Amino acid sequence: MSPSTYSIVLLPGDGVGTEVTQEAVTVLNLAAGLANFALEYEELPVGGAAIDLHKDPLPDSVLERCLAANAVMLGAVGGPRWDHLTGAMRPESGLLKLRKALGAFANLRPVAVPDSLADASPLRADAVRGTDLLVVRELTGGIYFGEPKGREPAENGGERAYNTMVYSTEEIDRVARVAFEWTGKRRRKITSVDKANVLVVSQLWRDVVQQLHQAEFSDLELQHMYVDNAAMQLVLNPRQFDVIVTGNLFGDILSDAAATLGGSLGLLPSASVGGPVGLFEPVHGSAPDIAGQGKANPVAAILSAGMMLDYLGETDAAAAIRHGVESALDAGARTADLCREGHRRVSTTEMGSEIRRGITEYFNRHRTAN
Ligand code: NAD
Repeated sequence: MSPSTYSIVLLPGDGVGTEVTQEAVTVLNLAAGLANFALEYEELPVGGAAIDLHKDPLPDSVLERCLAANAVMLGAVGGPRWDHLTGAMRPESGLLKLRKALGAFANLRPVAVPDSLADASPLRADAVRGTDLLVVRELTGGIYFGEPKGREPAENGGERAYNTMVYSTEEIDRVARVAFEWTGKRRRKITSVDKANVLVVSQLWRDVVQQLHQAEFSDLELQHMYVDNAAMQLVLNPRQFDVIVTGNLFGDILSDAAATLGGSLGLLPSASVGGPVGLFEPVHGSAPDIAGQGKANPVAAILSAGMMLDYLGETDAAAAIRHGVESALDAGARTADLCREGHRRVSTTEMGSEIRRGITEYFNRHRTAN
C-alpha cells in the first residue's frame, strides 16, 4: 500500500510565527518519514505578510487554498508595523475571517505540565506536576453570538444592556461529540462544565451531553461540574482532569486559567476543528519583542503540529512528537522564556533539533519493542 499523503497549507504569518512554523515543519517531516506517510506543503501569506504583498490580511486566493487542504497550520499574525491599520485591514482580522470561513465550532487547548516544567508554574510545583488536560470550548455559539443583544435607555433613567445565552441541541451535540472522540484517544475521562443549577441553557447542555454519552460513548467516564467549582478545581487539583467540554463563555475563561498552569505562553498549542478543514496554531502571538532573535519557544507550534497529526489519524507520529517535546525538556533544554539556573539555554532551532532527537528515540524504541 502506498503511504498516505496529506496536503497542508502553511501560514507562518508574522514575527516569531515564521520562526516557530519553520521548526514545526522540520519536526513534522522527520515524524512523517519515520511513520511512513507524506506531507505536501503550500506556504502562503497571512496577516501583515499578506498586507505587504496583497494589501489584504487574508486574500481570497489564500482562503481558497486553505479550504482545499487537509489541514491548515498557522504561526501568528500582527506586529507594530501594521498597528496603524484599522478594521478589515488589520492583520488580526485576517485570522478571524479564516477561523470563520473554516467553520470551526470546537476549540481545543491542551495544557500539560510534565515533571520537568512543574517548577516554572506560578502555582506550587506539587499542585501542578503531572497535569495533562484538554479544554474543548464551543466556539461559534453561546452568549457571544446570541440574539437579542443590545443597549437601550431604561425606563427609570440610565440604560439597560443585555446578551442572550442560547444553545440548540444540535450545537451542543456536535461539540460534545468532538470532545468525546478526543477523550477516547486520551485517558477516557470527560468533565462537562455548565451552570445547570441556575441557567436553563445549561440544563439543556447537560441533558444533551448525557444523552449522547449514553447513546454512543458510555464506555467513557463522564462527570458534570458547575463552572464555579471547575474554576476552583483547576487551581486546586488540575491533575484530576482529562478532557473538559464547555460552552463559549465558560471555555474562554477556563482555558485561559488553565493556560497559566504551565508557566509560558510558548508551550501552548491549539486546534480549531469541526468544519471541513482543521486549523492548528500556537496560542501565542507574533511576539515582536523577541522576533528575529532566535529566542522564540517552538514548543507550542510543534505541539500544534502534533495535534494536526492526531486529527489526520497519524496517532503514532503525534505521540512521537509529544514524546520528543518531553524528552527535550527532560534533558534540560530550555528557550529563554523558561530558562532558570541549571538549565541549558537553547535557541529556537536548537530546541527543534533536541525535539527531533527525542522523536527518533521514540521510533527506535518502538521498533525494537515490536
Ligand atoms: P504575544 O503572545 O505575541 O506575546 C506576549 C509575551 O509572550 C511577550 O513577552 C512574548 O515575547 C512572549 N511570547 C509569546 N510567544 C512566545 C514564544 N513562542 N516563546 C517565547 N516567548 C513568547 O502577545 P502580544 O505581545 O500581546 O501581541 C503581539 C502581537 O501578536 C500583536 O500584534 C497581537 O495582535 C498579535 N497576536 C496574535 C495572535 C495570533 O496570531 N493568534 C495572538 C495574540 C496576539
